[in-house]
Amino acid sequence: MLIKMTEFLKNLPAKKCVECQKEIEEQHECYGNQCNSCLESQLR
Ligand SMILES: [Zn+2]
Repeated sequence: MLIKMTEFLKNLPAKKCVECQKEIEEQHECYGNQCNSCLESQLR
């Protein structure tokens, strides 16, 4: 039985940003525990 990667990701619980508590929609591993905007603000 094949399970699509997208289906697998949908079943994961939503991550929450440790900075602003906002749910992180993207499931990229590189995002860690922070949302995109918090990551970008750190880089600057
Ligand atoms: Zn955030």
